Amino acid sequence: MAARETIRVVVCPLCGGGADMRLSGNGLAYLAMDCCKAQLFTRGPESDELCRDLPDVPAQPLPAPPPQIAPVAALQLPPAPATTPPIPKAPAPAPAPAKPRMGWGAFPNA
Ligand SMILES: [Zn+2]
Repeated sequence: MAARETIRVVVCPLCGGGADMRLSGNGLAYLAMDCCKAQLFTRGPESDELCRDLPDVPAQPLPAPPPQIAPVAALQLPPAPATTPPIPKAPAPAPAPAKPRMGWGAFPNA
């Protein structure tokens, strides 16, 4: 059986690729989807109309422009807190009590 002639290339309803729309022997449209290796046959006027309403594949799809990424201002972060708490200083040693000067018996230093 010879392959039937493609009348249009429409957007595949399954994968979004390009599907060949062809006419079967009874005049109803069907899709031969080489894009996803499937076929879709219409069996009545309703489905035939829906199939024929599928949009054509754009002749040359425009490549998507690269997204424009706005430069991001450098973030000014506050200085990170120290992860280790400061080590408390050891209390200063108490000053040594003043050494009493040597006195003489009943007459201590005045
Ligand atoms: Zn497909």
